[in-house]
Amino acid sequence: MRLNSTWNRRGFLGTAAAMVGSILAPRKLFSKVPATAGSNAVSGFGQSGNPYDELGVTTVINCEGTMTMLGGSILRPELEAVMAMAGRHFVNIPELEVAAGKRIAEMLKLPEGYSALVTSGAAAAIQSGLAGILTGDNEKLIQQLPDLSGMKSEVIIQKSHRNPFDHQLRSTGIKLIEVETRDELRQAVNDRTAMMHFSNFANAAGQIKVDEWVKLAKQYNVPCMNDAAADTPPVSHLWDYTNMGYDLVTFSGGKAMRGPQCAGLLIGRKDLVAYALLNNSPHEDTLGRSQKVGKEEIIGMVKALELYLKEDHDALAREWQERLERISRELTKVPGVSTSFFVPDIANHVPHMQITWDSRVSLEPKQVSKLLRESKPAIVIGGGEGKPGLSMCSFMLQPGEDKIVAERLEHILKEHSV
Ligand SMILES: *Cc1c(COP(=O)(O)O)cnc(C)c1O
Repeated sequence: MRLNSTWNRRGFLGTAAAMVGSILAPRKLFSKVPATAGSNAVSGFGQSGNPYDELGVTTVINCEGTMTMLGGSILRPELEAVMAMAGRHFVNIPELEVAAGKRIAEMLKLPEGYSALVTSGAAAAIQSGLAGILTGDNEKLIQQLPDLSGMKSEVIIQKSHRNPFDHQLRSTGIKLIEVETRDELRQAVNDRTAMMHFSNFANAAGQIKVDEWVKLAKQYNVPCMNDAAADTPPVSHLWDYTNMGYDLVTFSGGKAMRGPQCAGLLIGRKDLVAYALLNNSPHEDTLGRSQKVGKEEIIGMVKALELYLKEDHDALAREWQERLERISRELTKVPGVSTSFFVPDIANHVPHMQITWDSRVSLEPKQVSKLLRESKPAIVIGGGEGKPGLSMCSFMLQPGEDKIVAERLEHILKEHSV
């Protein structure tokens, strides 16, 4: 799974590359800004209609999916409008959080006794969800974190479920206890156990699957969290895991739901959701104070969810597949190039296309990625997802971009044909 292998590296390398680029060649970046049609409402910064261009930062065509490194997803115009409305008023944030949570619970038809909290992302939901389990509503304990004196101090996780986002669990001060077998799990549970954590994308990798994990947690009387951040679609995942009995479930708002990039959802038991809020901004002297979520994002998350639930998800999947097939038809005209299609079982569960070629094209996949990244417009396409060649998805492409991707990719492959 690419999560473990590349996400951290991509993070550090991306930042390092950007810093080096800006130190070495600041002028070069600015000299290539294309003139764009002006937006008459704005003067000064933003007047070109593309503030990124004005900063000399290249925008990219996204064939990788809902990557935080690339800005997550793109807001629907209707969502932008509602977020702008939200920005025009002052409001008591905890009151807004509770009301938004109630609305979200209604929209998702969560079972009685369940609620939701808008956080600054799934990562924040993981941290404040666990913080709430550790502290309850005890003000002294909330202020004390990550000093765990007087609190439970261990979270159990399957070894194959470890991933970069368990940093958010560790940030509370807890120790992760890794287990592989049911026996090891039984022996790991003790008085210090605060929670059992499940990484939904790793379901296939662990010996204990998603439904059994929560059953065992109930049996041991330990609260249980499922990080399902990138696991819509299918849309039903938004309620499947609470229905299964999970006490807390986390989702990213800014991935496939196309909510605000700095928003996420903590869904779960009302008491635990309330304790999570106590550990989060706007409350001061809390661990989560650094994970501020604004009124615009809270309102935006409610609207994004409403829009997401109304989508025709089958029609969307068909459209994403058709975009890939249009690209495929162009690429396979190049001798030696072939394509195939797949849908990852979980996480980014959307149509993907694998592109491979034989020795008639004299380029490594990495070189093709690099040439696309340097194209105008720049195109970002991932490695092969553990498969040979290149893999791409189309669900973050904007209208017309599939055509540009097809043309550029065909051109590059043709140019290096022998
Ligand atoms: C993206 C992701 C996160 C973090 O979500 P944010 O909304 O960006 O904070 C956590 N866990 C997994 C598995 C993810 O894919």
